[in-house]
Amino acid sequence: MKKVILFVIDSLHPAVLRRILSEGNAPALAFLAKHGTYFDRVVSSFPTMTPVATSSMITGTWPDRHRVPGFIWYNEEIRKIVDYGATLQSILKIGPKKILRNLLIKLNEEHLNPETPTLYEELESRGYSTGNVNFFMYRATHPHQAKIPFSLSLATGFRLKQETVSGPSHLTLGQLVHPPFSGRLTSYPRGVFHRFGFNDAFSGKIVAQLIREGKQPDFTVVYFPDNDKYSHYYGPLRTGPSIERADQQVASVLDEFGSWEKALEENVMIVTGDHSQSTVGLSEEYLIDLDHALKSFKRLRATEEASEDNNKEIAICPNERMAFIYLLQRKSEILPEIVSILAKDPRNAQIAWRVSENRYCVIQGGTEKRLFFSRTGAYQDVYGQSWSLEGDLSVVGAQVTREQIIEFEKYPDAFNRLFSALEARSGSRVVVSAASGYEYLAVGAPIHPGGGSHGSLEEEDSTVPMIISGMSVRLEHPRIIDLYPMILEHFGL
Ligand SMILES: [Zn+2]
Repeated sequence: MKKVILFVIDSLHPAVLRRILSEGNAPALAFLAKHGTYFDRVVSSFPTMTPVATSSMITGTWPDRHRVPGFIWYNEEIRKIVDYGATLQSILKIGPKKILRNLLIKLNEEHLNPETPTLYEELESRGYSTGNVNFFMYRATHPHQAKIPFSLSLATGFRLKQETVSGPSHLTLGQLVHPPFSGRLTSYPRGVFHRFGFNDAFSGKIVAQLIREGKQPDFTVVYFPDNDKYSHYYGPLRTGPSIERADQQVASVLDEFGSWEKALEENVMIVTGDHSQSTVGLSEEYLIDLDHALKSFKRLRATEEASEDNNKEIAICPNERMAFIYLLQRKSEILPEIVSILAKDPRNAQIAWRVSENRYCVIQGGTEKRLFFSRTGAYQDVYGQSWSLEGDLSVVGAQVTREQIIEFEKYPDAFNRLFSALEARSGSRVVVSAASGYEYLAVGAPIHPGGGSHGSLEEEDSTVPMIISGMSVRLEHPRIIDLYPMILEHFGL
């Protein structure tokens, strides 16, 4: 049985990958594409944020099932905002120790639904070995000792002395958790200037070493984080150089097998992204200031707990080009007020909320357009999901054919993705998704004027390319959750 390696390049943009392949600047990816199947448009989760999308990939479910709603979200169970470290200011405000704990332990062990098994858990329970290199979703049953580098523990006060992280049989998380290799690890790019080993070169070198030492697991996920930073800074359409650097890491992994042909004889190689990015405008009008728009409501602060005493009305949780506005009290009163404020702004492409059990409303900012939808009904989409509808379909850029098939274009899989964002955990909320070129500003929001951003329902944030090589696949309307059954099937499960 062939082993499987899944390479995930953060924020991989389909048009840029196409371009560098045609220019001959990504030889390893070009080799895999030539000997495999190339998908140009694989639909990601909503919000198009890394923790949400990677949870979808590793569990084969959307956030309504896997329960990781966003990068920043309100946790009704503890009545507090959860943030995995969106900005340096929020890290300092919330406390580096807490952020690190959220990211390293709670994301996998508390937030990710225990009832949606990960690929690692499924494969390991059938006797296959699995591995994870720097990918943030790694829940499985093997205990690993985490070691916090001295400079990081000094900065964060975070000590993991008695702390174990459970993961697949092989787990590398930068310098925090790494395998007991002999020798050379210290020559890998590490330390504070290399994000403690959370970088492409570190990821590539660890996998290469696993292969060289005969320790390659049956299934390995390898995460390349660098492209996300590059894309945020220079804009998604200028990410050629950083994707080419990820390509060099893939090449160095292929090299370990003696020849690239031999690598494919022994392995299935998959390359994809978690989400993509789109360009945001440079001037201030491209920032939709939610704190300002919703200033008449009492907003829950990052470190606060919602309680009867402090009377907080809303929690604003910005996720770049989308935001959750959670309603904490007087819900039926403040919902229409919030919706009518947001509806006046044409920069809000969609504003959505749950009207009642299985009935959702979406409106388009700056217009009177309105659409209601429910799960199951007379209309089918291309994914085989059925819906009932009422109102103006142009709110989500969809059309209905004569055969009552719903076709999405600008907002792929819109109903399912809106539904799953509205139903990811308990808590009443309004969801907003920004029009092209805009992103949300609020306390704690990372912003990228003139650079790249993501999070929205829109196609450019939402679709990633995927190369599958070394195994034949047929997928007519691929989505990132399709990886899960495909990989299990490869292993005969
Ligand atoms: Zn990002």
